[in-house]
Amino acid sequence: MPFPPGLADAIRTKLDVGALPTALPEKMYAGYGRGHPCVACGEPIRAAQVEYEMDYGGDHIFRLHLGCAGLWEAECRLRGYRRD
Ligand SMILES: [Zn+2]
Repeated sequence: MPFPPGLADAIRTKLDVGALPTALPEKMYAGYGRGHPCVACGEPIRAAQVEYEMDYGGDHIFRLHLGCAGLWEAECRLRGYRRD
């Protein structure tokens, strides 16, 4: 599935303003979507789609589509936030 135009730019902007995390979470889960909005693209994560749930503890939980999580991780690596 191709990414919507502008999605990578949206993820970069959210990283710039702190709306997306810059490090991997303590815990990460993958499952099917439950209708929660994706923090990267804003679209709901539907039951037929894979949802990545990144748990940073407390109320700091970020849910992303599988593809959006991949773009987020790639951008973090490009910026040098991750070195492993
Ligand atoms: Zn998304």
